[in-house]
Amino acid sequence: MSDILETGGEQLLAALRHVLEGKGIATTDEIQERMAVTDAANPGQGARMVAKAWVDPAYRRAMLQDGAAAAEAIGIPMRGMPPLGVLENTPETHHLVVCTLCSCYPRAVLGYPPFWFKSAAYRARAVRDPRGLLAEFGTLIAPDRKLRVIDSTADYRWMVLPMRPAGTEGSSESELASLVREGDMIGVTVPAMRALQGEKR
Ligand code: FE
Repeated sequence: MSDILETGGEQLLAALRHVLEGKGIATTDEIQERMAVTDAANPGQGARMVAKAWVDPAYRRAMLQDGAAAAEAIGIPMRGMPPLGVLENTPETHHLVVCTLCSCYPRAVLGYPPFWFKSAAYRARAVRDPRGLLAEFGTLIAPDRKLRVIDSTADYRWMVLPMRPAGTEGSSESELASLVREGDMIGVTVPAMRALQGEKR
């Protein structure tokens, strides 16, 4: 084992793939497919789910019940991924997602996590001082509003369904999707009308 660890990361990865294939856990094709799906994933996919949930009550219910199935329903490949839970923000409760242990993230839906999601500072402060952390993202949570911090794990990933911004009553589903940013689905920010008015995100 020590000679494997002394080599570079790519060789370690090759050795791991060799073992997975040898034991019949995953084929080369399956690994390649998963890598391609993960590389292609991006926050726009989650934004499409959010926008659809805002305009389609049946989809919203399905999404809150089973996020992975709701993702699959609009063509986001979830095969082989851990379950996806969806946390709905309401006037009473705001949700914030963190992986306190490492960087567990719904990559199949949102793509690779932002760099700060993996940082020790984010992981610690999300638990110790979530309101202070959110304030640094420009997100002020009223003192009487409940703030729930949810730990994403290797076995269960989470995303946030933010509240639909006021003033978007006449917006189309694709316009709504363009308002939703990566951080809105982690809970560090909330979507606002500004993107529709042409302001840079
Ligand atoms: Fe993790």
